[in-house]
Amino acid sequence: MNIVLLGAPGAGKGTQAAKLVEEYGLCHISTGDILRAAVANQTELGQKAKSYMDEGELVPDELIIDLMRERIQQPDTVKGVILDGFPRTTTQAVALDTMLSHLGRPLDAALLVDVEPDVIVKRLTSRRMCRDCGHIGSVSDGQNCPECGGEMYQRDDDNEATVRNRLEVYETSTAPLIDYYKGSDKLVPVDGDRTPDEVFADVEKSLSL
Ligand code: AMP
Repeated sequence: MNIVLLGAPGAGKGTQAAKLVEEYGLCHISTGDILRAAVANQTELGQKAKSYMDEGELVPDELIIDLMRERIQQPDTVKGVILDGFPRTTTQAVALDTMLSHLGRPLDAALLVDVEPDVIVKRLTSRRMCRDCGHIGSVSDGQNCPECGGEMYQRDDDNEATVRNRLEVYETSTAPLIDYYKGSDKLVPVDGDRTPDEVFADVEKSLSL
């Protein structure tokens, strides 16, 4: 099964992706995670992407499409993928359709995790991540990860000004993908303003898993 996860930053895409990986063994590809690793390792890609990410702007399409073209051909994707944070523009969505059709692997669904902007700002500014296992938690977790005990930290782009810009960028560049996938009958919306487990129950039902 090949799934695109759509939704504003902080809607809970990463959390739902982690659950899908755990339950169904799909391969999770998060362009944000790949870019953050590239920045941390100071690779050429990381150096090119960093300033855009710090401002909450999108990294240019060519860089992201090249990155995904390579990633989606790796052997671990054969059983199915969950694409988290890609595509984010119509150009990327068209490129993805081409990539998948070359690989003979159709897209099954574009799952939209839907949450109101006000809820997002609160969620993102209090979001914390684990440096060791990638667990997505919140400020209420304290300094240590509830899953593995690793150090919890705040992403550089989870400050209020950058969050607001990321939401604007989402509305302008990424929200049009909702109509794009509606048009090809792939859109599956779920209400993301509930607990992660409640949302996941709906995801499983909506995707007939
Ligand atoms: P995320 O972790 O998905 O919220 O992504 C963090 C940041 O990485 C975004 O604000 C963008 O700067 C960049 N990014 C991630 N995925 C993409 C993409 N598909 N296209 C352009 N920029 C991206």
